[in-house]
Amino acid sequence: MDILKSITEELPKCIVDAGFEAANIVLYTNDADFFKESEPKIKELVNKFKKRIELRADEKLLLTQEKTKKIIEETVPVEAELTNIIFDQPRSLVVIEAKKPGLVIGKQGSILQEIKNKSFWIPQVQRSSSIPSKITESVREALYANNSYRRKFLNLTGEKIYKDWTNEKKEEWIRLTMLGSGRQVGRSCLFLQTPQSKILLDCGVDVASHGAEKFPYFDVPEFDISALDAVILSHAHLDHCGLVPYLYKMGYKGPIYMTYPTRDIAALLGLDFIGVAYKQAAAPIFSSTDIKEMVKHSICLNFNEVTDIAPDIRITFYNSGHALGSAMTHINIGNGAHNLLYGADIKYMKTRLLDPAITSFPRVETVIIESTYGGKNDILPPRSESENNLLEIIKKTIEREGKVLIPELGLGRAQETMLIIDDAIKSGKLPPIPVYIDGMIWDINAIHTAYPDYLSQSVKAQIFQDKNPFVSEVFKRVGSSLERKEVIEGGPCVVLATSGMLVGGASVEYLKNFAGNKRNSIVFVCYQGVGSLGRQIQEGLKEIRSEDGQVIPVNLEVNKLDGFSAHAGRTELLNFIKNCKPKPKRIIINHGEVSKCLDLASTLYKIEKVETNVPRNLETLRLK
Ligand SMILES: [Zn+2]
Repeated sequence: MDILKSITEELPKCIVDAGFEAANIVLYTNDADFFKESEPKIKELVNKFKKRIELRADEKLLLTQEKTKKIIEETVPVEAELTNIIFDQPRSLVVIEAKKPGLVIGKQGSILQEIKNKSFWIPQVQRSSSIPSKITESVREALYANNSYRRKFLNLTGEKIYKDWTNEKKEEWIRLTMLGSGRQVGRSCLFLQTPQSKILLDCGVDVASHGAEKFPYFDVPEFDISALDAVILSHAHLDHCGLVPYLYKMGYKGPIYMTYPTRDIAALLGLDFIGVAYKQAAAPIFSSTDIKEMVKHSICLNFNEVTDIAPDIRITFYNSGHALGSAMTHINIGNGAHNLLYGADIKYMKTRLLDPAITSFPRVETVIIESTYGGKNDILPPRSESENNLLEIIKKTIEREGKVLIPELGLGRAQETMLIIDDAIKSGKLPPIPVYIDGMIWDINAIHTAYPDYLSQSVKAQIFQDKNPFVSEVFKRVGSSLERKEVIEGGPCVVLATSGMLVGGASVEYLKNFAGNKRNSIVFVCYQGVGSLGRQIQEGLKEIRSEDGQVIPVNLEVNKLDGFSAHAGRTELLNFIKNCKPKPKRIIINHGEVSKCLDLASTLYKIEKVETNVPRNLETLRLK
């Protein structure tokens, strides 16, 4: 039986259209009174069908956009600071962007209710970032510029999810194939199959590798892009998201599920990835059109929001504590027949920026966990110790009139380092020195301010009180190559620049200029992939070669501070599993160098007495 038919049969004749928005069911009415008084009836249906059901006004009822705009401007208090009003006509929605979204909503939603009753549009509220963010604006633009396509796409996605709505018991098996990240860090890509669904978990690139080794194994016979039902993206680091636009280039037209910040940052990183490829005189493997396709097909979920993504698969995102918007995905397969937690990258400790990963789940049988710092010797030093070390290095370097370079991933550590430095300068632990921010970091700061709900309580409170730490006067943005030259030729300073592993980007430019002088320092605060320039310098590389063949000696002081890692250290990983509720029966370890994965697996097996697996790339495990 068709679910839409079952629902509309219970409603009066004034329902003129019914469709899907992915897993949500949307009904359209042409009866003004029913529209205003339908709430109890819709609630009753939600309880009966256990699906999200929404009633909207048919186009004929909608007030003109002009009149609606006027109503919104009159109803919303000025203090809310409206920044934009976007109409999504095909879906009868109006998106209201404001600096203070709470004031747009009103007490118990009173203001929204008033707008809805007067205009028949369904208002949705979005926070505008306090630092203007071009990327967030253009992502939102791309979504609404294609809204007729989007309505069709969401409906088609829903039709696929509900195609077997009758809940007949089917033969069940679940298989998981490693297309990447098996016994390595980089190119995370896991392929989950059931008799009814094919799902891709992450689709990353190994930035530190070369040739085919960079990309996941798409050429296995069972991977057919046209048969793929959905892609789930855990977070926006290139080793997890780098190849998602390429899937769209190869003809994938299905949904990609992620959190809102992940969508914006993934789009930004994709554009930067193209830029870096051009600078290295290599042809980028996808274009900005493919990134736009990714955005057009994105379906964003908040943490703890349960949603069906295929006839037999339901997912929920949980905070993973690793970077803004980073999620663990709880995957309920076959109506509870098996529960899989894809941990992706986690941090099981409170940082300045984020709260620790969640460990309580409704049910879990299998956990997939990372092992970036899972080796015996990967006991990360306490954060306070690393913070003091960082400040000490900066102080000493400045005293000897040197410059400090901190290569950063755009997302995550850069913001954490900024919070530490801001705090140290304001509290007098560091003298008031110039701190420069170069590369993508600034744009990503802006995205942080657009989604404060994803940040730790303390940073969120600061942003809500208009004491946004990311716009502190301590930081100066380097916006052009001329400004970069001034920093290079200028006096002692601290520079935070992308990329984090010294693989292209601004950080490499600074390195070339800072490397020769022993008064300068470099501080590594994030993981350095095998083969990357960063890793080679950590391991004692004596000279670097620039593109024009110039040889530059590496004389600067090299420091490595593991305590800042956005990845859980060995102790955190063991604690995460220990505290997992309920206790998993099986643990699959990936995303770590081979010895570290094996090491973590054998320890977990001994402590937890559960089955552990360390699959190689191309290996398939049967989960049920
Ligand atoms: Zn990551």
